[in-house]
Parts: sequence; C-alpha cells; structure tokens
Amino acid sequence: MTSQSKPMEIEHAPYRQPSVLSMEGVYHRFESLVAVRGVDLEVAPGEVVCLLGPSGCGKTTLLRIAAGLEALQQGRVTLNGQEVAVPNGRHVPPEKRNVGLAFQDSALFPHLTVLENVTFGLKGEPARQRRTRAQELLDQLGMGAYAESYPHMLSGGQQQRVALARALAPSPQLMLLDEPFSSLDARLRDQIRDDTLHVLKRVGAATLLVTHDPEEAMFMADRIALMREGNIVQIGTPRELYCNPCDPFVAAFFGEVNELEGEVRNGKVQTPVGSVDARQLPEGSRALVLIRPEALRVTERSTASPEHRYSHVIMAKLLGRSSLVHICAHGEDGSEAHLHARIPGVFLPAEGLQVDLHLDLSQVFVFSASD
Ligand code: ATP
Repeated sequence: MTSQSKPMEIEHAPYRQPSVLSMEGVYHRFESLVAVRGVDLEVAPGEVVCLLGPSGCGKTTLLRIAAGLEALQQGRVTLNGQEVAVPNGRHVPPEKRNVGLAFQDSALFPHLTVLENVTFGLKGEPARQRRTRAQELLDQLGMGAYAESYPHMLSGGQQQRVALARALAPSPQLMLLDEPFSSLDARLRDQIRDDTLHVLKRVGAATLLVTHDPEEAMFMADRIALMREGNIVQIGTPRELYCNPCDPFVAAFFGEVNELEGEVRNGKVQTPVGSVDARQLPEGSRALVLIRPEALRVTERSTASPEHRYSHVIMAKLLGRSSLVHICAHGEDGSEAHLHARIPGVFLPAEGLQVDLHLDLSQVFVFSASD
C-alpha cells in the first residue's frame, strides 16, 4: 500500500547557539556591602555585551567574577557550557579560562617590543606563525608600523591598542574589557573604539565590556545590560533601552530628559506641551512624563495656534552638531515648564520669540510618579 499523503511539515524551533559566557544568580558581597545582587547574564558567540551603569553599581565586580579574578560566592558561571566556578568549590583560575583581558591602564611588558608583547601569550605555535598573527592584529588596530618599538616610545592610546592586540592574540573564547578607552582623550577614544569594534566583529569574539558611558555602550554593544545598585535593571539592544526604557532611571541614563508631572484624566496626561497617552496608569493618579530634548520640534508661532497655548524662547545655544533651545512652555491651566529642545544643525531663534512645540511621541515616556 502506498501513501499519497503530503510529507508532514515539521516546525523547527529557531536554533540558538549556546552562550559563551553564562552567569546565573551571581551574588557578591565585600563584607557588609552587597556589590552584585543575584545577576543572570549571557553572552552569545560573536556578541558584544556592555555592562553599563553609574560608578559603584557592580560592573567591574561582575566582570572580575567572569574572569576568575574574584572568587564566586553565590551562583554559577560557565564558559562554553563548562562550569568554571561554583561557590566554595571549583574555581578555574583566570589563566586557564581562555579569556582575553584588557583594562583602563593595561600595563605592557616594558622590556619587550610591541610585537613581542603581542606574541607573549601565544604558546605552542611556531614562532613565524605567532609573529604573523601578532602583526595582523597590530595592522588591524593601526599599530603595524610600531612592531619594533618599545612601550615607553608609545602614547597612552597606542599602548592601549597594543594591549587590545595582546588580549586578542590567543583567540580567546571571551574578551573581557574594563573601561578600555576611558583614559584616552575624546578624539582618540572615538578612533580606537571604532577600530576595536571592527576587530572584535572581524574575529567574531564574544565580548563583555564595562563602561559608564552610555554613548560608548550604544556604539559598541549588540546588547546593553544597564546596572544599578548590583542589579541589572534592563537588558536589551541599544534601541530597546533608548526607545523603550522600563523605568525613569533607564530613560534618563541615556541623556538629559525634560521632566513634567500631571494627573491622569480620561487616559491622558495634560502637559504644557499637549496631552499624552497615560499608558494604563490609573485614573486620577500622578504621572511622570519624560520628554527627550530631541522629541521637541520648534516652529514660529502660527496665527492659527490656540489662543491659550503658547511658548517662548528663553535662549538658544549652538552646541556644534545641534542647537539647544531653552523654552518656557505655558499650559492651558496657567502652569509653566522650562524645557530643552535639541534641534539638529544651526537653529538659533531670537530670545522672546513665540513658538509652537510639536512632540515626537516615540521619544516621550510616561511612568507613575509615585514609583
Ligand atoms: P566604577 O564604574 O566606579 O568602576 P563599578 O560599577 O565597576 O564602579 P565595582 O567596582 O564593581 O563598581 O564596585 C561595586 C561596589 O563594591 C562599590 O561600592 C565598591 O566600592 C565596592 N568594592 C569593589 N571592590 C571592592 C573591594 N575589593 N573591597 C571592598 N569593596 C569593594
């Protein structure tokens, strides 16, 4: 008997590659101070995850636990599925974890040339292969011409590039970078960040990078884990955190926000800039409305503008790529709000000019004022 039935269609679950780094329920205290409070974190192959947060929130402690520089007190750490740390038990030391480390001021070996510094960690390969690998990485990080120089002949930024090349040379399963650009001046930092990102992506290195700088995290990260007081408050793509912050702390961490308060009436919050959706907040409750400066568009007041609503320019400053306009907005109920609008390019309206304000609602966030 032959069957004429159609072959069965099988739905495949999307294939997820196992994480390179997995941290589960990691908790860490220094005597009475709790630095990390039960954190779960995964870094996938080829992924750059940034630990971002204010000073003292536990970023470095978490990175040091991943590196094996800090003994695990509670939780579990695995690298490519292999357990490397359990509390009061197994602790694979940093040099056996196959991780590349670079810090803010990674010291190079002063008596070795740049090339020798980079080949230093390459064991078990023929010398010529080691030199070729080191030279390739130095080229990619813009340091190819300095292979025979000694560290004291290099600037801080050049030394940092060499330190990154040295950490990358053994093709570690995981790169752990702690504020690797923070000692550099702004222009140099941008350049080295850019070079580093391209090298990390080219070699496909899974990376955990600590930074307190939101712009750096957005530039470098596939995902950002924003920390506060030992917890990860929100983890997601830069866009998710910037455009969909889970609370006011996350919204404000990525740059200045205008803060307004109002009462929820008929599902809306009235503000001097207009009414915004109250997003499930209960009727009569107080709402906090956060408006990014770039969400405000400013136009000269039209004759058709409602009589009761007007705003005027207090001052305008050119900041380079954008202009910052200080505005006094007048609400229907007589309330006033001082707002900052950030406008791309040169936009310098005269002091006192009456203007209309238009809101880009995708950059307006509403939270309960009582949280
Ligand atoms: P920063 O951005 O300033 O480096 P961070 O987010 O990396 O801060 P951690 O260095 O992880 O924060 O520190 C978290 C908390 O633990 C801080 O309050 C810090 O003072 C404390 N701490 C860190 N290391 C130690 C230590 N070895 N002994 C005692 N307390 C420590």
